[in-house]
Amino acid sequence: MKIGAPREVTASEARVALTPDSAVQLAKLGYCSIIETGAGVAAGFSDDAYRAVGVEVAPSAEALWASANVVAKVRPPEPSEVAYLSADKTLISFFYPGQNAELLELAREKGVNVIAMDMVPRISRAQKMDALSSMANIAGYRAVIEAGNNFGRFFTGQVTAAGKVPPAKVLVIGAGVAGLAAIGVATSLGAQTYAFDVRPEVAEQIESMGAEFVYLDFADGEGGGQQDGAATGGYAAPSSPEFREKQLAKFRELAPQIDIVITTALIPGRDAPKLWLADMVAAMKPGSVVVDLAAERGGNCDLTVADQRIVSDNGVVIIGYTDFPSRMAAQASTLYATNIRHMLTDLTPGKDGKLVHNMEDDVIRGATVTFEGAITYPPPPPKIA
Ligand code: NAD
Repeated sequence: MKIGAPREVTASEARVALTPDSAVQLAKLGYCSIIETGAGVAAGFSDDAYRAVGVEVAPSAEALWASANVVAKVRPPEPSEVAYLSADKTLISFFYPGQNAELLELAREKGVNVIAMDMVPRISRAQKMDALSSMANIAGYRAVIEAGNNFGRFFTGQVTAAGKVPPAKVLVIGAGVAGLAAIGVATSLGAQTYAFDVRPEVAEQIESMGAEFVYLDFADGEGGGQQDGAATGGYAAPSSPEFREKQLAKFRELAPQIDIVITTALIPGRDAPKLWLADMVAAMKPGSVVVDLAAERGGNCDLTVADQRIVSDNGVVIIGYTDFPSRMAAQASTLYATNIRHMLTDLTPGKDGKLVHNMEDDVIRGATVTFEGAITYPPPPPKIA
């Protein structure tokens, strides 16, 4: 069978789902690979780099989709790509079925089997296919780089003949995958880093990375009161009004001293909570930077504008880009293509180039959103061992 990667249709998308390295690994599973001409160029992979490892290069999207049995993509299919979906194909891409009901129905009508990379269950066995985490890791890294690029000072403190420079103070709000990556980069650049999360269990991880966990003095909880927002399953739940007030009061206290704020706070299935409010931005020093990784879901900062860099009246830069992984397209493509390759490994038990879509497998079942003409989203709850 043949695995194909088209050129992404969305203009701002520089990633590609198949790299020359992943094609080499797919060949070991018995697959041939094909890309649309130019599919990897924006990520730094020329057509010749693919050809050099035996990948076929199709002259157009139409030729690519006609030739491939399995199509691997980054973004959900755009309207121009829906026409290519058919019952003899499997599509593997981000799909966000919860937000894309119409697209899901179209995929069902077309009979294509869809594996949504964003639906891979977040269990240990599936970590190698967890593209949400691999992309969040890149977003967290890039957020700090982007902040540094907009901040006119050092991260690290210095004492030199030219004077004493204090370290930058960085506050990371939300310490999931992206937040922890941001903490790691900020501390390694020498910043004095603080982090806040509603989940108390991340305190140890934050501290082990050299940052200071911001505790709240909250009477109802143990160990500082952070429990209030914690939910089951490792994800956060909305905070109570009392907890939120305490949290905002703490941020107000910190705002005048903090140089860089990186916000990553999300609650599954909801708009991003507003946590860095206009008055906090107003209290920051001119030249400070806010990078809002929650911009796509409405933003954690009051002033964030999705996909834009704005400057507040008092000279604070607020970055709301929603394409951080694409801004590191070579790295992101390499990790994403590896996630896809691992998914295909599990789909190819015989290593014989034949795809076996085993709906008894929890990971494959969880990620499959359409199968043989039926919508299979949402998946059944995980089996209790
Ligand atoms: P996420 O992107 O859903 O949210 C980011 C962070 O924001 C979370 O840490 C959350 O607690 C925090 N947050 C929410 N509301 C907040 C508020 N009001 N103030 C401050 N912080 C707030 O998170 P994620 O990166 O997807 O990780 C969520 C969980 O999933 C974690 O427990 C993580 O360990 C787990 N996880 C497991 C796997 C796996 O086992 N394969 C992979 C990735 C993540």
